[in-house]
Amino acid sequence: MKFKQKPELLLIGGASDIALLKTKKHQDLAAILDLSNVKELKEIIKQESYWEIGASVTMEQLRQEMANDWPDFKNILDVFGSRQIRNVATIGGNVGSASPIGDLLPLLMAHQAEIIIQSKHEARPESLEEFILAYRKTSLMPDEMITKIIIPKDEDWLFWSEKVSKRKQLDISTVSAAFALRLTKEKKIGAIILAYGGMAAMPVHATMAEEYLLGKEIEEAHFEKAAKLITEEFQPITDARASKEGRAILAANLLRKFYFSFEF
Ligand SMILES: Cc1cc2nc3c(=O)[nH]c(=O)nc-3n(C[C@H](O)[C@H](O)[C@H](O)COP(=O)(O)OP(=O)(O)OC[C@H]3O[C@@H](n4cnc5c(N)ncnc54)[C@H](O)[C@@H]3O)c2cc1C
Repeated sequence: MKFKQKPELLLIGGASDIALLKTKKHQDLAAILDLSNVKELKEIIKQESYWEIGASVTMEQLRQEMANDWPDFKNILDVFGSRQIRNVATIGGNVGSASPIGDLLPLLMAHQAEIIIQSKHEARPESLEEFILAYRKTSLMPDEMITKIIIPKDEDWLFWSEKVSKRKQLDISTVSAAFALRLTKEKKIGAIILAYGGMAAMPVHATMAEEYLLGKEIEEAHFEKAAKLITEEFQPITDARASKEGRAILAANLLRKFYFSFEF
């Protein structure tokens, strides 16, 4: 595969996000580099300890492939857009959009995925936290593209996700959450990741709650305190989907729901 030679070329996967520049904002897309049919970018390589997912793998392909082994991904992919959107939208485009409500982004944070960024000369891995710098701004240089995403497969972690939206199907997230938890032998919280979409200008960790819960026993009172910290940590926006107060309550309630979803 030849890499991007002309920095002014706009990369497209399924164009389900970028084409809105044309259809909604009536802008001309000068020159595009369509990655949707590059064979090497459409592969999913399944190893025992990780999956390697090509950037042009579509959401529908991912939904079907992940249905058995990745329930938290399936949960979100089942309600991602509609089948028409899922048939064209790619994982590379979801990451490349760097939207605060990109549905896969909290999941990729919870799973500590690596984004592989390739230039003509070299490939570098970045976490999602390194890749997304600000609202829809990424670390991608003009001669780079995402080629794959590597998701570790680790049986020691519990994963959980939820998307809250006004409609069940074909709607964007009001708030979304993807959580990961690893218990110690003594049933204490050995590691915890609480990743949210819709709570800030980019997908974020609930850092105060993560720090509070680390090392604690699995007890309702601790999760209750952490849920309160979540309402204090974020300053979400008010928009047509929810008020900022509503978003804060939703985010806290998602943590409570996570606690009650497992029999620890
Ligand atoms: C009706 C509708 C419903 C939607 N529903 C959802 C939803 O439920 N959840 C959700 O998260 N999103 C949703 N979206 C938004 C969009 O479909 C997703 O973000 C999708 O994953 C984008 O993928 P794409 O391949 O179409 O990206 P594109 O539109 O092709 O590209 C998006 C951005 O990523 C960049 N890009 C693409 N591929 C690469 C690459 N390989 N390397 C580097 N940069 C790249 C592009 O340059 C562009 O900036 C919806 C959109 C529509 C129109």
